[in-house]
Amino acid sequence: MSKFERYTKKVEVYIDPHKHCKQCGEMITEANTYCSNCYTKLKEKKKRKFFRRKKN
Ligand SMILES: [Zn+2]
Repeated sequence: MSKFERYTKKVEVYIDPHKHCKQCGEMITEANTYCSNCYTKLKEKKKRKFFRRKKN
């Protein structure tokens, strides 16, 4: 019975609204799609693309 009790406790702790980053899978808040790290990276990528287009 003690085993079962332990399991229930674990599940209870796990109830917490969260999502995983689409890029790296890190735990993030439900309001976001990416973690701050990947979000910054994506932003930089967009900037770069824009710059390249302007040059051409
Ligand atoms: Zn990430």
